[in-house]
Amino acid sequence: MRQTYLENHAASGLRGHYLHAVYLINLATPTEQLLRQSIGSLVHYMQLAELLNADGVVFHPGSHLGAGFDGMLEQMAGAMREILDTVPRSPAKLIVENSAGSGGCVGCNFGQLGRIVAAVDSDRVGVCLDTQHMFASGYDVRTRDQVTATLDRFGEDVGFDRLALVHANDSRKPLGSNVDRHANIGEGEMGIDAFRLLFEDGRLNGVPWLIEVPGEEHRGPDLDNINRLRACAGLPARAVAESVAVR
Ligand SMILES: [Zn+2]
Repeated sequence: MRQTYLENHAASGLRGHYLHAVYLINLATPTEQLLRQSIGSLVHYMQLAELLNADGVVFHPGSHLGAGFDGMLEQMAGAMREILDTVPRSPAKLIVENSAGSGGCVGCNFGQLGRIVAAVDSDRVGVCLDTQHMFASGYDVRTRDQVTATLDRFGEDVGFDRLALVHANDSRKPLGSNVDRHANIGEGEMGIDAFRLLFEDGRLNGVPWLIEVPGEEHRGPDLDNINRLRACAGLPARAVAESVAVR
């Protein structure tokens, strides 16, 4: 099965491939047992990534459950260092994704993301920028000036050298709602122009963009959404036959 995966990946022509860890992981938990299980799970993903020669493992940093971000920062950084040390040969980056900002969240603003990355202090750590989570946590990107200001802030707080990939999703919920609900590209509160403006700015264009949208009748990410994004980037639409590789 591994061989089949590797062969299909090679044939797909995709620039990168990534694993997404389960949502139960919480490196900011005050509970020792949950912390150990979260570390164990991420180690497993990193080992799997090594076997599949994947580029990264994306995870959500979790929730401090009232203990406060500052109080949990060192625990999170220590846990991430431990994971990286346990899997020293994995080519995969350990990639922290920004969250939408619900109660007790960690990594729900660029400042927190930047502090997590700085505290781990490893070039094997990257950041995934999810556009829906960014919008839900209050960063507007619906005008050119807002895109400039938001990405300026990302550059200052995190740094584009840390950016590993983009999760491109529109938002079913309004700006600053702190709710994680993805919409198809151009059908949500962000709107199609936000994606056009993000591509136009160019600072996110050096990394792969992945979609996590509901698709038609909630059948999952589809070619239609990919082609909407490609149009925003000024790229020609892909043909149906090629869609298998990108799903
Ligand atoms: Zn995401």
